Amino acid sequence: MRPKVGVYVCHCGINIAGTVDVEAVTEFARQLPNVVVARNYQYMCSDPGQALIKQDIAELGLDRVVVAACSPRMHEPTFRAVVQEAGLNPYLFEQANIREQCSWVHEEGADTTGKAMRLVAAAVAKASLYEPLEEREVGVIPAALVIGGGIAGLKAALDIAEAGYQVYLVERENHLGGHMAHLNKTFPTLESAAELLSQTISQVREHPNIKVLTASEVIEVEGYVGNFTVRVSRRVSESTSQRVGESAGQREIALVNSSPDDSLTLEVGAIVVATGYEPFDPRLKPELAYGIYDNVITSLEFEQLSSPSGPTGGKIEVNGQQPKDVVFIKCVGSRDKNLGNEYCSRVCCMYTAKQAYLVKKQIPDANVTIFYMDVRAFGKGFEEFYDRVRMEGIRYRRGNASEIYRKRDPNVGQGRLVVRVEDTLLSETLEVEADLVVLAVGMVPRHDAKDVASLLKLSRSPDGFFLEAHPKLRPIDTTTDGVFLAGTCQGPKDITDTVAQAKAAASSALIPLSRGRVKVESIISVVNQEICSGCGICEELCAYGALSLHPWKGVMTVNEVLCKGCGACAAACPSGAMTLSHFTHDQILAQIDTLVV
Ligand SMILES: Cc1cc2nc3c(=O)[nH]c(=O)nc-3n(C[C@H](O)[C@H](O)[C@H](O)COP(=O)(O)OP(=O)(O)OC[C@H]3O[C@@H](n4cnc5c(N)ncnc54)[C@H](O)[C@@H]3O)c2cc1C
Repeated sequence: MRPKVGVYVCHCGINIAGTVDVEAVTEFARQLPNVVVARNYQYMCSDPGQALIKQDIAELGLDRVVVAACSPRMHEPTFRAVVQEAGLNPYLFEQANIREQCSWVHEEGADTTGKAMRLVAAAVAKASLYEPLEEREVGVIPAALVIGGGIAGLKAALDIAEAGYQVYLVERENHLGGHMAHLNKTFPTLESAAELLSQTISQVREHPNIKVLTASEVIEVEGYVGNFTVRVSRRVSESTSQRVGESAGQREIALVNSSPDDSLTLEVGAIVVATGYEPFDPRLKPELAYGIYDNVITSLEFEQLSSPSGPTGGKIEVNGQQPKDVVFIKCVGSRDKNLGNEYCSRVCCMYTAKQAYLVKKQIPDANVTIFYMDVRAFGKGFEEFYDRVRMEGIRYRRGNASEIYRKRDPNVGQGRLVVRVEDTLLSETLEVEADLVVLAVGMVPRHDAKDVASLLKLSRSPDGFFLEAHPKLRPIDTTTDGVFLAGTCQGPKDITDTVAQAKAAASSALIPLSRGRVKVESIISVVNQEICSGCGICEELCAYGALSLHPWKGVMTVNEVLCKGCGACAAACPSGAMTLSHFTHDQILAQIDTLVV
């Protein structure tokens, strides 16, 4: 029986109709083989647009639908749902991209309209050969793994546990808290980081649904959304060291399996990655003399110096004396093309303001100078805090530090530090003496981010941080279903934004957990075992471990749950035994034939 195809051309406001003659494309579509109706509408994705499709399916008995509109990445799920609601299998739908691949990239004119016509014809030819595909679901293990016990991991673990699910929190260090455990006060409110953190750690430690595994690392992850099997290696038994807010009492770990080599196997339905950042190593900028003079310190070291739990009990001192001239240098390791770190670390402006303020409060007669490139006070209460800091008499000077050296003093041999700076407003070089120089180091990806990425099949952005699935619409998701990002492992953030993202990651992880079932890919590889020679090329290429040779038949087999339908195997198969459903050779050739006439 011949298929009955309906074609719907979207104006997308003027996004398509401003460049493509949508009336002409509709008229052209009406003449195509198998097409029984073709219409155009202002916005096909709107409720009235969707209603048009449903009505035609019901009244004209359509059994294939083609929408010519934006990228399928945008609205394929919308239109699949529309045809499904009208009673058709959702895989009997095809979307021709005449926006990103046509109207947005070409000028208005006959050629552009002609290209839109060919794209529509190709979509009709392919859709005419579509077969219904089965929608499949698998059960979800009602537990989550959180990797990293900084503030991001702690907050994500708490939210998932509060919803009633088991959480395994794996932290590689002996203690929880991450970098926040090394901070003194937090901008802009100057609350004690230790107090905020110890509260959170206690809640995690005491939560009946959270199993904390410190000194532990994830070494293997297998499976897929809803059903991950994770192997965790433990360096030592649970530490009893007491850090900020940590309680000495450790709870028993009830584990799925514990093997003699001290590795454990956990089974979870979702994973939150919260592995954090590293501070930039200022030795990579040797002109700043870090590691040469002990009164050139990093901002993280300053946090300890000013902290009541630090080495001086919170007294800001250098060799037992209060510094009289303190210089802060911002953007060390950030916004630096020479280092390849072009991004802004987002926290340095405000933590420098905070640290300068703390110096002034403790040593009112100190001269405090901040050398900056720009001041970015973008968050809630930040601009007000920046104003408050300047009111304290702290000097902001726009300039780049080019060198730090120690002045020779004939009386004492070695004198004070001198910071040489190019003043970028006055275009002159100046030198400022200092007793203490604080380098505001930026955030960089952890040195082992590459290993975690390959373990979980995550992508990384050019800056090295983990890449989200979409910067605007899916900032928490990754390209691995069931794996979510929280905190600074995805990019520089302050605590507020880290916590917001952690809570978002927890709620995303809760979607599969609370549903109890997840849909798995319907578009998967299919082997024709009659012609498969068992050469194994496809098995080597498969990034998801979905292919394996049958133990005695010597032909390839597909694990239908692991297969993601990427098509790498079908493209590489020398005998044509491997095909991808929904992208069969016949369907693709029909598309190509239409495009090349
Ligand atoms: C000098 C300085 C001052 C700052 N001051 C402020 C401030 O005043 N206010 C503010 O809002 N923000 C401030 N920040 C930013 C703040 O530090 C971060 O926003 C916050 O610590 C990010 O938390 P996180 O959990 O994402 O990462 P992290 O704190 O880095 O925690 C990550 C955790 O994951 C663990 N981990 C890493 N890899 C693995 C693995 N493979 N397996 C298991 N565990 C792993 C790490 O050991 C660590 O415990 C400051 C930053 C700096 C550098």
